[in-house]
Amino acid sequence: MSKNLILSWAAKTHQGKVRKNNQDAYGKFPKNHNDPDIPPGQLFIISDGLGGHNAGQVASQLAVRSLGQEFHLQARNKQPLDLREAVKKANRHIFHSASSNTELSGMGTTCSVLLLFEQTATIAHVGDSRIFLINRNEIIQLTQDHSQVAELQRQGILTKEEAQNHPERNILTRALGTLADVPVDVVENIDLQPGDAFLLCTDGLTKVTSEELQETVLHNEPQKACDRLVRMANDRGGEDNVTVVVVQLASEGTSVFSRLTSWFTRKSDANRDG
Ligand code: CA
Ligand code: CA
Repeated sequence: MSKNLILSWAAKTHQGKVRKNNQDAYGKFPKNHNDPDIPPGQLFIISDGLGGHNAGQVASQLAVRSLGQEFHLQARNKQPLDLREAVKKANRHIFHSASSNTELSGMGTTCSVLLLFEQTATIAHVGDSRIFLINRNEIIQLTQDHSQVAELQRQGILTKEEAQNHPERNILTRALGTLADVPVDVVENIDLQPGDAFLLCTDGLTKVTSEELQETVLHNEPQKACDRLVRMANDRGGEDNVTVVVVQLASEGTSVFSRLTSWFTRKSDANRDG
């Protein structure tokens, strides 16, 4: 992260109003800036587990843990983090756990990862969680949903509205942990500017429109933005677990957000069920 960009962030996850547990997970690394061995950059992860009982929860948490470990390992080895390889490695961890434990058989998870380093962002992505780049001018979805209905929408067979309300919208065409290897979408060299923000979210947020996402992320401090987005999802039925991570970038000294940051991060939590 460049000296003149200040980062503030927050996250919130909620089980929603219908589901009995929360199979979403998120992570941010490094967790603690007082670590002597701080890896360069900031890594944000969001994952949405699939699988009966607690299996989905295990899968989403394994994805976060595996990526965090890889981030620190590469830093110790003085290697740049290869996001694609890191996600593939997480896939192998989950696949191996699923194959060696009958209770976890068939588990999987989405995984969307944002790495901020110096003036650029890199993302890696599998599944139907989403990463948006948001600023005053636009909101861009940087990820493509790996789901059957999204595929049909891309082919022009379903409209956006039909896809959003389709009964089979949850069927993924790609997930971590379900096969020994998985193709990973990667977008590199996304230029960072003061005023940019990123939103990572699971599909529990799909009933919130792009305009509402943009408005909420730009006009609220990160924690308030997260709280509001989760509330909107729950007010519109809360049919699924919902998780949001909001990251805002500002230039040092000029930002209304700079007062929030002692260094360039501010962790605001995030009760799993709160
Ligand atoms: Ca799920
Ligand atoms: Ca979900």
